[in-house]
Order: sequence, then structure tokens, then C-alpha cells
Amino acid sequence: MAFPLKGDDAARQTSPTLIPNPYWVSFSTSCAELIGLPVSSDRLPLDKKWLELLAGNALETESIHFATPIASAYSGHQFGVWAGQLGDGRAILLGEIAGQELQLKGAGKTPYSRMGDGRAVLRSSIREFLCSEAMHSLGIPTSRALAVVGSKLPIMRETRETAAVCARLAPSFIRVGHFEHFASLQNVDRLRELADYLIAEHYPDCLNNKNSYLRLFNEISKRNAELVAHWQAVGFCHGVLNSDNISTLGLTIDYGPFGFLDQFEIDHVCNHSDHSGRYAYHRQPQIMHWNMACLASAMLPLIEIDHSSAEAQTILRSALEEFPIMYAAAWQKRFREKLGLYLLEDGDTGLIERLLQLMHDSRVDYTTLFRRLGAIKKDALPEEILLRDDFIDREGIDLWMTEYLARLARELLDDESRNTLMNKVNPKYILRNHLAQHAIELAQNDDFSEVEKLLKILTKPFDEQAENEAYSRPPAPHHQSIAVSCSS
Ligand code: AMP
Ligand code: MG
Repeated sequence: MAFPLKGDDAARQTSPTLIPNPYWVSFSTSCAELIGLPVSSDRLPLDKKWLELLAGNALETESIHFATPIASAYSGHQFGVWAGQLGDGRAILLGEIAGQELQLKGAGKTPYSRMGDGRAVLRSSIREFLCSEAMHSLGIPTSRALAVVGSKLPIMRETRETAAVCARLAPSFIRVGHFEHFASLQNVDRLRELADYLIAEHYPDCLNNKNSYLRLFNEISKRNAELVAHWQAVGFCHGVLNSDNISTLGLTIDYGPFGFLDQFEIDHVCNHSDHSGRYAYHRQPQIMHWNMACLASAMLPLIEIDHSSAEAQTILRSALEEFPIMYAAAWQKRFREKLGLYLLEDGDTGLIERLLQLMHDSRVDYTTLFRRLGAIKKDALPEEILLRDDFIDREGIDLWMTEYLARLARELLDDESRNTLMNKVNPKYILRNHLAQHAIELAQNDDFSEVEKLLKILTKPFDEQAENEAYSRPPAPHHQSIAVSCSS
């Protein structure tokens, strides 16, 4: 079932706006498979009507008819401040296929567009498309992206750009902001409908439980704690962790000014419009916790159905306290795997943290460092290990390496098996900003070959792909500071 709430207070029927002369920019055959959409030998939908559908120029193909496209209302906290009603200002939900909601982002104005034009530019659409598919291949929960369709329709941002529509998929796009919306309106019936829908369709384990709404909160919180641990492990910075961008399914959604870490800076801020660094890399876990507090406040009336107000507050407060514990467990699991530590030992967290500190001090490339860690042999000598050259503090890394080698010596796996396992969690290829930027610049001149190439490479991020070695390298110094703003 697509968006569950009916009625003008929750969602409005909205048709996409026609866009002139749409053309394919990129298409994900893996997503097509997900929704059972047949593709032809040119790796595009067999049914040619899909181009017009995904452009927002038609509501049907040969086999599907979307009768009631909608935009939904939500609210939220932006940069820590209550922003009131927001809503799908430029995303239109066409309907559901094979358990996936199909949304067109940038398909024109909706009743929630406020001052916006309802459009998205080619640049940001390619970024969302590539990153969604890359994250999925990294094993990180995310909305998916089926296609980017371009048009020469001019769009004004900081400069004049052109429009595109990104077709995205998720089992549900319900956000923390949907709960906050109805909580702010003190509409407990709507809160209940949202929660009942999520339980019935996406959290069946919470069903038939006396405290089903509390369990729902706990599960959403757990999924999001695990999600941030995934992000931290792969060096992903979301950029705009406002509560309206937080999925109730624990998916990465609303890709904007995101960035993967190149040189490791613990306090890296990927969004150049985030002047206070609220959404810096090292703050993501605590910000997600904050967003879960927004969800807890919004769900309070649901817990009050069975408890006194004071009791409900105490219950939710202690549920919220679980977040840092769940996050720490997930973080430790991910980083232990990144270092190839499979036996549980007390000192491991310290070992991981000391490595991160050394990497930060020397601004070491995050992805390549972890990838190379897997190739270390147990019987190596610290000074023989080439990656020590990446560190300014040689003494520090030698000391760390001595400890690490001693720790590895206690592991049961041989070097080769450990390397194989570590290569399954330490990607070789990530969507570095300079790679995305190069693909975008070519695409802006109607050459989509780099988008295609990146999509292909990022679909197998853990494979060696010797022929694509150059795509694994850190950016050259002049590419290190590509500015990514909120403008999209
Ligand atoms: P975002 O920061 O992209 O998650 O967007 C925050 C809010 O602004 C959401 O409600 C969006 O739907 C809305 N929004 C962003 N860009 C536009 C646009 N160009 N036109 C209309 N609404 C927009
Ligand atoms: Mg958003």
C-alpha cells in the first residue's frame, strides 16, 4: 500500500508538471529488476513509455496506470529549529510497484512547494542517483534510484542550470517529520494511523504487543542507530540531518550536499552551507539521537494512550537512552570488522580509536587506508608496512602497528582469509566528490558516459577492478575542496 493517510490534511492529489523533451541520463537495471521492469538490450525499459512516465509527462505505461499521484504533508526541525510545515515540495508519489513506492523528485510544484519551483537540477539529480545506488551496493539501507531523466528546461540556482527528474524507490518514504507534523497539530488519530500503518506493513514484529507503539519507537531508533554506524564506517556524511530527512524505516534518504570522506578529518563538514558544523562527521550519531528525541516527543501521545502522561515520558526517556548503547554496539561491530578483529577483546575499542586519531592527525585518506589494512601480514615488521608512509607521526603509527600486529597474531584466521573478509567491508570504490563532479560536468554537455561508468564501478565497490584503479585514488590536491552547497 502506498502512502496510507487519505484526506487533504495529510496528502494532496498532485500531478507532475510537463517537462519539455525529456531524455535518459541514466537508468539502473538493478532497480528495474527490483520492481520487475523488463529491460531491452540497450539496458533501458523495454516499454518506451517509461521515459515519459519517469519525466512526469504521463501517468501510464503499457502495463501500469497511476491514478492518484500525491504529495504528502510533513513538518520538521531544520538545523535544530522547528520549521513548521514543509511537505513534499518537489517529490510526487506516483504509487506503488512490487512493494516499492515510486516518487518523482523534481517533477514540478506541489501544494507544499512554498516559494520553491518544484524542480531539481541535473547536477543534484545525478548525485542522488549515483549515491543511492552506490550506498545500496555498499550494503547500506537507502532509498533506491531507478533513473534520471533530463530536460533542457532552464532552472535558476546560483547559476543557470537545467532540470532533471530523479525517480526514486523505497518501501515507504514516511519520515520522522510526518509524525512531528501531526503531533504539532495534536492530531492523535493521524499519529495512530501512521504508527499502525508502519507496524502492519513494515514492523510486523511489533504487532499484537501490549506496548506496540513503544516497540515501534524502539525499532525505528535501532534501525537509525545502525544506519549511522554504517555511515561512520564507510565515511559517509549526509549533510542535512534535519528531522524531515530521517526515514522511519532507517533508510538513507534525501541526498543533498552529502560527501564521502577523502582525507580523514573527524570534524569534516560536507555541506558548505552548514556554517556551525552541526552535521559534521563526528556529530552524526549524536544528531541522529536528537532526531530520535524529536520522534519520541511526537509519539508521546501514542504512549499516553495506555499510560499516564508522567509515566509515558519516563518510558520514552528510558527508550531514548538505549540509542547511544545500540549505536556503540553497531559502531564497534562495524569497526572491528574493518580492522579484521573477530575475537572479542577488551582493548579493541581503544585500538580503533587510536588509529582514527592518528589518521585524523595526518589527514590520511579514509577509504584507501582501511582497504590497505587488509593486506597486512601477521608476521610483518611495523617499519616494513608501506602505509606508515601516509602518516606524519611515524613513531605513532609504528607504535600502533606493533600493537595491531600483536592483536592480529591472536586471531585464528590466516592472512588470506582475513584479507578476503576485510575486503568485503572496506570498499575500494566510493562516490568521491571529484568523481561525481567530473561525471556531472560531462553530463551537462550531454555526455553521460561517466555517469554510466561510475554507476558500473560503484555497483561492485568491494571488487578490485584493476582496470578502474584510477577511480579508487584520492583526489588530487586541486580537487580536494569542491564546494557542495544546499542548492539543488
Ligand atoms: P531538502 O533540504 O531538500 O530536504 O528540502 C527541504 C524542504 O524544502 C522539503 O520540504 C522540500 O520538498 C522543499 N524543497 C526543496 N527544494 C525545493 C524546490 N526546488 N521546490 C519546492 N520545494 C523544495
Ligand atoms: Mg528533504
